Amino acid sequence: MIEPLHYRSTRGARHAAGIEEVIAAGLAPDGGLYVPEALPQRDVGDFDPHGSLADTATTLLDPFFRGSSLASELPAICREALNFEVPLRRLPYRHDASILELFHGPSAAFKDVGARFLAACFRRLRRDDDTPLTILVATSGDTGAAVAAAFHRQPGVRVVILYPDGRVSPRQAHQLGCFGDNVQALRVNGSFDDCQRMVKAALNDAELQQRVPLSSANSISLGRLLPQMSYYAHASLAWWWEHRTPLNFIVPTGNLGNALACVWVREMGLPVGEVHLACNANATLSDYFDGSPYSPRPAIATLANAMDVGAPSNFERLRWTFPHDHELRLQLHASSVDDNAIRETIVRHAREHGEVFCPHTATAVHLLDGMGSTGLPWAVVATAHPAKFDSVVEPLIGRQLDVPPALAAMLDRPAHAEPMAARDELLKEWFAVPTA
Ligand SMILES: *Cc1c(COP(=O)(O)O)cnc(C)c1O
Repeated sequence: MIEPLHYRSTRGARHAAGIEEVIAAGLAPDGGLYVPEALPQRDVGDFDPHGSLADTATTLLDPFFRGSSLASELPAICREALNFEVPLRRLPYRHDASILELFHGPSAAFKDVGARFLAACFRRLRRDDDTPLTILVATSGDTGAAVAAAFHRQPGVRVVILYPDGRVSPRQAHQLGCFGDNVQALRVNGSFDDCQRMVKAALNDAELQQRVPLSSANSISLGRLLPQMSYYAHASLAWWWEHRTPLNFIVPTGNLGNALACVWVREMGLPVGEVHLACNANATLSDYFDGSPYSPRPAIATLANAMDVGAPSNFERLRWTFPHDHELRLQLHASSVDDNAIRETIVRHAREHGEVFCPHTATAVHLLDGMGSTGLPWAVVATAHPAKFDSVVEPLIGRQLDVPPALAAMLDRPAHAEPMAARDELLKEWFAVPTA
């Protein structure tokens, strides 16, 4: 009998849950975030040096699923979710730096990894006699498209996406509206915070939940965080086997899900070196790591819109990992990069080197440029394909970008989104209208 790993809320130790419940629920009942009782330990020698990304993921995540009903399915879940390349590409013009490209999935942003893993788990957790499940997502752009692509045409699941009208890039908006079938997009006349509030109000409405079983796929779900650890493990192991040194990462950061996955891989014992957070003008994290008390604040709009977060949800998990401020501040570095620096970085790298970065990735590239030569090997994490943000990038570089095939196919389809005012009761009323 294998003892399964138990999960608890960051806000209290009373309620212990299994991985199935953690993945199905998203948020813990007390409003906290699920964390494992302790992070399992792994050793370089546990991994197959010739394994695929899915093989690395299976070995890494096995202790999290051990003893659960999903344990025997984990290899298949990893193969389904991680079926695209995540290359670590050396930058030709900087001998000490590589780019970890996370944007080769269907929606051209790293959110595909978590969304596809979640969908693969949901497929197996669901029984045929269950009433159809509605997955509600508030998105500032990239999450909604990844979740829509991952759950499109999945039987027994409907996806409803809320996004702030006019505040996502035109191509992001098109992606959100182009699926149809079991995916519906609502364009809310308000901010991302309004969308999140409407989703939370619906999820907390017991009467609505009775009629329409609702779940969420937001970025605080542990089912999205765990698979994101796979590419950090895979890249740092590949580097280790070749160079016998840890790989250091610069991670574009908003809600802190992607960077936390990197930190957890290091905590599990794998050869990850320094972790630098690249934030946009939303400076909550950089202020904290500079020594100020942690003070969440309203988000401000920037060119890197998927990182427009003033109160990063996963900070609660980081605090659980390192409970004392002085200890936590030793683990990470964080810097804030403003829109001018984002523009300047995109322009300069395109002109001097022919490398084009999305505005999010550009924050990390800017930090790398500012470091000069450190003697350490760096991997800059590329979170989205620049063609997703053509309206920002193309005017800066003065030419059109090639569009990856999966994104091009989405842009070729017609798109439709229903308008909605930013009022909680309107979403509830919307569910009362029967759909085809
Ligand atoms: C979501 C997103 C980010 C921020 O990731 P977090 O996990 O929220 O820190 C950065 N870049 C892109 C392109 C994104 O879609």
